[in-house]
Amino acid sequence: MAECLFCAIVAGEIPATTVLETDRILAFRDINPQAPTHVLVIPKKHYPDAAALAAADPGLLGEMITAAYRVAAAEGVAETGYRLVFNTGAQAGQTVWHVHAHVLGGRDLAWPPG
Ligand code: 5GP
Ligand code: ZN
Repeated sequence: MAECLFCAIVAGEIPATTVLETDRILAFRDINPQAPTHVLVIPKKHYPDAAALAAADPGLLGEMITAAYRVAAAEGVAETGYRLVFNTGAQAGQTVWHVHAHVLGGRDLAWPPG
């Protein structure tokens, strides 16, 4: 079993509801959705956070953004709008140390959050 939760999902050791997969990207539904559309987009390769990924492989970060758009389009929220969130660090609420973009949509997303 992989030590990292999302590496375990990539390895198929923990089930997830996949919504998009490419050679380098996986997108699956968040287990605790905060909006009608709440999908997590991750690189299959492990990086702890967005900054580490950007430093090591900026092209892969771009692939994450493209995948997030494709998820939003498939979910029907690309036109109405969707939010991409990279929680980075403990105080920002990052709990899984494998970089992931939250794709949130399908309702009004007030800002700033409460
Ligand atoms: P973070 O708080 O690190 O930005 O986001 C981690 C996200 O992973 C949370 O929204 C949480 O609900 C989700 N999550 C945690 N464990 C699992 C799991 O086992 N499966 C899935 N699909 N999502 C998970
Ligand atoms: Zn990982």
